[in-house]
Amino acid sequence: MSQTLLEFRNVNVFYGQIQALKEVSLTVNQGETVSLIGANGAGKSTLLMSIFGQPRIAGGQILYRGEDISRKSTHFIASNGIAQAPEGRRIFPDMTVEENLLMGTIPIGSRYQQQDKARMYGLFPRLEERRSQRAMTLSGGEQQMLAIARALMSRPKLLLLDEPSLGLAPIVVKQIFQILRELTREGMTLFLVEQNANHALRLSNRAYVMVNGQIRLSGTGQELLVNPEVRSAYLGGA
Ligand code: ATP
Repeated sequence: MSQTLLEFRNVNVFYGQIQALKEVSLTVNQGETVSLIGANGAGKSTLLMSIFGQPRIAGGQILYRGEDISRKSTHFIASNGIAQAPEGRRIFPDMTVEENLLMGTIPIGSRYQQQDKARMYGLFPRLEERRSQRAMTLSGGEQQMLAIARALMSRPKLLLLDEPSLGLAPIVVKQIFQILRELTREGMTLFLVEQNANHALRLSNRAYVMVNGQIRLSGTGQELLVNPEVRSAYLGGA
């Protein structure tokens, strides 16, 4: 049986009077790709951010390999194998591509650093071509690739992705998802938050649909792709 890596149990989050997450429960098992889809403001980013304790949850539990991490430090969480490639690709704009990559290494100065860097350049040849350029000069798609590659430099057991397709041209989105597929083939566990339901569901073993802070539906990627509610709300009624 596959190990559960991440589990939300009846999690509640509030921003003042607004309840952003309502009794949310979900699981991500080792080796799976799981996505969370939902409209703007549904609570997807809140859920991802709560894994790192910001915002703090007001009820329930967030378990990582069976341990409650909802009161642990970001350092503890990152050094135990969870990495996030953030929305908006918060890379360091004044640093070069290579310097950005090296910033992702955990622990700093790890003996695997050179080997991991070579692996990232294998996975993202475009980044190797641009290794000495400042990150601010990259295209949106390249910046997203750099954010993913930097997150991978920490050798995570679980990679969290916040809207990797946001603001990118369709052809670039396709490239990003091809790379994600390659990672899943290598056995990486992915938890993906996406508005681009089509790509996300095709990639995922399982998925959850969030509406107003609640999990409304869940199923395999294939089941949700043909679900009438998902089709009309998130797949353009196709
Ligand atoms: P998006 O795709 O636009 O990021 P989302 O599904 O990730 O949407 P969240 O950003 O998690 O949704 O927002 C969930 C709800 O919480 C929304 O009603 C939002 O307005 C509210 N919210 C988010 N962040 C804050 C905050 N810092 N303070 C107050 N309310 C917030």
